[in-house]
This record gives sequence, C-alpha cells and structure tokens, in this order.
Amino acid sequence: MNESALSPAAIEVVALTKQYAQGKPAVDAINLKVEGGSYCCLLGPSGCGKSTTLRMIAGHESATSGDILLDDKNITDLPAAARGTAMMFQSFALFPHLSALDNVAFSLKMRGVRRAERHARAQELLERVAMGHLAARKPAELSGGQQQRVALARALITQPRVLLLDEPLSALDPFLRVQMRAELRRWQQELGLTFIHVTHSQEEAMALADTMVVMNHGRIEQMGSPYEVYNRPSTEFVARFMGGHNVIETPQGKIGVRTDQVCISPDDAPLDAAEPQLPVIVTDVEYQGTYVLLGLQQQGRKFAAHATAEFSAMVPEAVYAAMPFAVGQPACMHWRTGAAHVLTA
Ligand code: ADP
Ligand code: MG
Repeated sequence: MNESALSPAAIEVVALTKQYAQGKPAVDAINLKVEGGSYCCLLGPSGCGKSTTLRMIAGHESATSGDILLDDKNITDLPAAARGTAMMFQSFALFPHLSALDNVAFSLKMRGVRRAERHARAQELLERVAMGHLAARKPAELSGGQQQRVALARALITQPRVLLLDEPLSALDPFLRVQMRAELRRWQQELGLTFIHVTHSQEEAMALADTMVVMNHGRIEQMGSPYEVYNRPSTEFVARFMGGHNVIETPQGKIGVRTDQVCISPDDAPLDAAEPQLPVIVTDVEYQGTYVLLGLQQQGRKFAAHATAEFSAMVPEAVYAAMPFAVGQPACMHWRTGAAHVLTA
C-alpha cells in the first residue's frame, strides 16, 4: 500500500430512518452531508440516535428506509466490508494478546491476505503513525496515546475513505482524553481523511469538529461549525445542551444570551433603561479562577439558596472582586439587545 491510497470521500445521508420497534423511530428521516476530508461530530444526549446513525453508515445496522451515499455511490445495501468505511471503537478495543503489528494486520488476515504481505502493509501503516519502532509490543506495553495510534492504524488497514468513531475517548481519564483528542484531530488533518465521530460531550465536539451535528430524539436539531452552533443555537434544546447560555422568556418570545454576555448590577444601581433587564436573586457564587460563576433566580420566585439556578452569569474575576455579591442578595441581570437572539421551540 502506498500513501496516496488513502483518499477521502464525502458522505451523504438522505431521509435515513431506523425503526427498531413500534413507536418513535430511533433515527427519524435525517438528512446530512459530510464533506470529503472534513471532521464531523455527531453530538447529542444518550439515546438520541447517534450510534444507530453511525452503525447504519458503517453497515453494521440496516436502514429501515432512506439512503447512504459515499461520494456518489449508493452504499445503503452494501455489506460493511465493501463500503469504504471503517470503525474505531471505544477505548480502541485492541486485542490484548496480539502485538501492535498483528492487531493492525488482523482484518487483512480475515480477508485471507498472505502473512508476508499483511505484515508489510501493517508495518507501513505503523510507520505512518510514528509507531513502526514499537510494532512488536503488546497493547499493555504501550501508553494510551500509542494504543490510540495502533487502533487508528488498524482501522486504516483496509484503506477506508471514511473513518467512523463511536465515543473513542469516552472511557479514558480526563487528562488522557484531552491529549488523545488533540492527536485525533492532528491525524485526521495529516491523513486528510473524512472522520465522523460520535460523542455526547459538547466540549469534545467543539474542540474537534469542522461541522457539528446536534441530534435530539432521532432528529437533527442543528448543524454548523462549532462557532455557529455555540454563538447562534437555533433552539432552546441546543442552547441548553451546549451550555453557556441563559434561556430567558420575554414578552417577545424565548431568547438566548450567553452567560458571559449578561451583566449583574446591584439592585439599586442606575441602569440604561433601554437595556433589557431582569430582577434576580443570587443563589450561588462559585469561584472558577479566571471568572466567578453566579447562579441566579428570577425575583418573585420562592427563594432557595443553592437551588438549581435558573440563570448564570460568568463574571471576570477582577470585575467580581470590585463588586462582589452575597448569596440571597437581590440584583439586576441585564444585557445588550445585540447579545440576545431568538430561540425557536
Ligand atoms: P446514542 O448512541 O445517541 O446514545 P443509540 O443510537 O444507541 O443512541 O440509540 C437510539 C435509540 O434506539 C435508543 O432509544 C435505544 O434504546 C434504541 N436502540 C439502540 N439500539 C437498539 C437495538 N439494537 N434494538 C432496539 N433498540 C435499540
Ligand atoms: Mg451511542
């Protein structure tokens, strides 16, 4: 295999549906285009249909209806091995008793490729991910990062044009997770392949994705760059799921305002009357280092200290130090009109 053999493909999903049983489908007529060579993250809460979508693309699950296209080829009914896709699983799922080389060569063995040839191809891929010198080691003799590279090489051995990753980082400890996430992104760019990565972590999706696809109850709620989705969540669900937003009912409808774009003033401070504002009570003060996170509750509701806050404000540490608040203190939450945007139901 030579290096130019890896070439990315686009994936398009048209009205793709999976109905496991009676009732609401697990995946409900979704439409999605993933550009060749891009990093796409499917994001959403547990049970929203991410893995089912990925498994249908991989060919590990049949579609009830709809189509899956790889470039312009309809792969909906092809067996998994004939699609040009490959899967990378949670915690890398390496075989513990096999060397790195044999782990990488494994699927070629299943396909009846001769030993010398499969070892040569596996060695070449291990070199490509800077693991050639550790080919004889077993997974337990490798660091987490090295294991991830072996898993990547193993997934790439069949020369897929799209790599599918189902929560590959979820079982790792937080420190390693952040490290491995940076590596994944680097390899995706270096290899130039199309990656479709399932995660329930918005932080992970924002760090990795060119395109983020936010799913809820088997449907796509919003799709766009992390910047677009974070700055303009289109629905209440996306605003709440992404976090960092206040969802506020106003006479004009429901709006979203980022928690770092609301200001908190003492109750009696003179304010610009043109600025939208809401009387609140401070329910929580959390020191977070560079900023202080204030939990807030609308005035007039029954006050409960440390109750789940209705709203939050991220106040820069220095601003807070100059004007601190006590739990139970009445205050005014206000924001620039331009900082708010309308959320649909
Ligand atoms: P996610 O990966 O987003 O957590 P899944 O795609 O695994 O969600 O599941 C979506 C829905 O489909 C859930 O309600 C789940 O219980 C259901 N489901 C998943 N796999 C199966 C299956 N093999 N048989 C029946 N129901 C399933
Ligand atoms: Mg899942």
